[in-house]
Amino acid sequence: MKFLGYKDIEIFKIIKKEQKRQIENLELIASENYVSKEILKAQGSILTNKYAEGYPNKRYYGGCFYVDEAEMLAIERVKELFGCQFANVQAHSGSGANMAAYRAILKPNDRILGMALDHGGHLTHGHKMSFSGSDYEVFSYGVDPESHLIDYEKLEELALSLKPKMIIVGASCYARAIDFKKFGEIAKKAGSYLVADVAHIAGLIAAGLHDSPFPYADIVTSTTHKTLRGPRGGLILTNNPEIAAEINKVVFPGIQGGPLMHTIAAKAVCFYEALQPEFKEYQKNVIANARILANEFIKLGYSVVSNGTDTHLLSVDVKKSLGMTGKLAEKILDEVNITVNKNTVPNDPEKPFVTSGIRIGTPALTTRGLAEADFVKVAHFIDRALKNYKDENYLKALKQEVKRFAKEFKIFN
Ligand SMILES: *Cc1c(COP(=O)(O)O)cnc(C)c1O
Repeated sequence: MKFLGYKDIEIFKIIKKEQKRQIENLELIASENYVSKEILKAQGSILTNKYAEGYPNKRYYGGCFYVDEAEMLAIERVKELFGCQFANVQAHSGSGANMAAYRAILKPNDRILGMALDHGGHLTHGHKMSFSGSDYEVFSYGVDPESHLIDYEKLEELALSLKPKMIIVGASCYARAIDFKKFGEIAKKAGSYLVADVAHIAGLIAAGLHDSPFPYADIVTSTTHKTLRGPRGGLILTNNPEIAAEINKVVFPGIQGGPLMHTIAAKAVCFYEALQPEFKEYQKNVIANARILANEFIKLGYSVVSNGTDTHLLSVDVKKSLGMTGKLAEKILDEVNITVNKNTVPNDPEKPFVTSGIRIGTPALTTRGLAEADFVKVAHFIDRALKNYKDENYLKALKQEVKRFAKEFKIFN
């Protein structure tokens, strides 16, 4: 390893190690992906030097002509991608995008209704450890204990009796398609705003492979780094001009200072890529590969939450299948260069730091070019590791096998 001309060798050695890890591991975390060289280049560009508090043509700093062009391009592209009229691309993250969306329409202590974390929701949908749980009066809905599908009847009952100011729809671990139209009808009946957080499925929606939350949602928030395959960041969309004006005020100066212009440029590249026909092919493969994985696990005798998937991810109940916790499964798989995360299953008897399940996603490995037959192999790697974990030598040999397999696929495209 050479670091000629580098002064801070310490940190570049760490980056090199992480690069090696990304090449030699099978990345199955459902919220991760590999960005293109162009996105990396924009994100690592000199735009990081520029302060640009405010919005295009209304900045608090001079010299913003070019970053204005970058931000306007990002806004135009994302509006085209999701078919909407207003976009804020400055949110630093998905969580910040949610905070801004809520503040644009709610007052402190207003009542909100969101999906419970242990049923697949996100911390920012009202969990007590998050700002959303302390700033608002929170109630939660979940999935049916048998089918593991969102219990729309129960949701409607709750919404009509609680009359929340806002219903938040969206999940971090829900494998089935979400019926945004139904959410829209329920929100309307209850007199609630509807916010759709599509952080996980944004890429599928952009490709037209999952129903859009428009025109049902008043606000749509997302991350840009999950299925959308862009730089780490957030975005906020709406068709309502008054809400759009509030969102812009809340993001800056409400909760953020200067925007990350290098990240916004990288978001623009991400939206450009997502508008190309190849992106739709990619997302089709993401879903096909997730289905193959789910089917293979079912064939191998595993209990898969909601018995399959319509999206980029699936959740395997390892407790029901093998009597082990999600925490142990994650650790075993780490030992053989397979990266997943432990995740609660609906009505999980284990704590969130232990869990009964693992969440498995296909976006990253599909970007690396793995096809359906390769995902069958991946399912078998996982199965072999979990069933032979007490045999140290077996795991060592399997690790080498996984490493050789992973190295056949490039992480840069
Ligand atoms: C990932 C995620 C977020 C948060 O995104 P960060 O960029 O990590 O803050 C918000 N909502 C949902 C549904 C998510 O899955």
